[in-house]
Amino acid sequence: MLQRTGTGKGKTVLVAGGAGFVGSHLCDALLARGDRVICVDSYITGSKDNIRPLMNHPGFRLIEKDICEFNSIDEPLDQVYNLACAASPPQYQADPVHTMMTCVAGTGNLLALAERDGASFLQASTSEVYGDPAEHPQREDYRGNVNCIGPRACYDEGKRAAEALCFDMLRAGRADVRVARIFNTYGPRMQPDDGRIISNLLVQAISGKPLTIYGTGEQTRSFCYVSDLVTGLMALMDVDPNPGVPINLGNPGEFTINELADMVVAIAPTMAEVAYKPLPADDPQRRRPDILRAKEFLGWEPKVPLSEGLRHTADWFIATLGSDAEKPLRRQAVRQASAYEIGVRA
Ligand code: UDP
Repeated sequence: MLQRTGTGKGKTVLVAGGAGFVGSHLCDALLARGDRVICVDSYITGSKDNIRPLMNHPGFRLIEKDICEFNSIDEPLDQVYNLACAASPPQYQADPVHTMMTCVAGTGNLLALAERDGASFLQASTSEVYGDPAEHPQREDYRGNVNCIGPRACYDEGKRAAEALCFDMLRAGRADVRVARIFNTYGPRMQPDDGRIISNLLVQAISGKPLTIYGTGEQTRSFCYVSDLVTGLMALMDVDPNPGVPINLGNPGEFTINELADMVVAIAPTMAEVAYKPLPADDPQRRRPDILRAKEFLGWEPKVPLSEGLRHTADWFIATLGSDAEKPLRRQAVRQASAYEIGVRA
């Protein structure tokens, strides 16, 4: 174990995947409460833009590395968050072997560092461990319905294997491991081209392109705003005693993809029509978290309604995508009433 030399005020926290969408918001929140943050990222899906404002912060250190090759660090750690993995279906399927290795070998490397320092460890797991669920809403004791040889398996089974590794380390008394099962999350700093539903629909509406809906659009998801998720992650990492069981973190509000598209059009009015596309293989039909455990163990529940979170996210995309995207939106805003009458399902 490395000797701790800190002042004892803040903790030293390693955030793997700290330049990603969720990771960068977590880095912000940890620095804001006075922790020292070591961000490890390979930029496969993370971006320097997300952490640029932190670069000159005295409590921030950046290490550019893939967690599959990250197995030593020269300062002692109090906490380790593992958020390092591509998480949108097109991105995690782009290099499925690497996705699986990130989940298993990468998580193994980070667990070894936590074991070295007696640090608490939080694994970002996922609602994908439930696959296309046969039980609804999903409680943590539901064991899931996953196709272990399908195109989503690199992520679903990778994250399931990572959970197995985490709980073996916990049972063996080798690391203080906590596991969050994260449901669909959205907000500023999502990549505009990550292929997920909320980024796709908002960017399409803002730039006047057809809204892509896969299948009938009657499949459901539950969407959690990123600030709510970060509060939940920190609560799970800090709670004493360790709950010792996986905990769902997500917003239990459930919407069909068609309902979501209607909300997006209400916020970012567009004349563009809907382009229906085939449903991807193994696309789950329904998803909604049961968050009783999070309420009981952490006193946590999400606060930001979808309409409000979508508005913040739309504002951020408009600011980020710049004037090219903004022009059509301004034009379309004038036509808002008629656009919404026509509706996205016209
Ligand atoms: N989807 C869609 N249009 C898009 C992107 C996604 O209709 O442009 C659907 C997708 O088939 C799924 C849901 O929206 O049913 C959520 O997809 P996402 O990729 O955001 O995440 P998932 O929950 O499937 O991991």
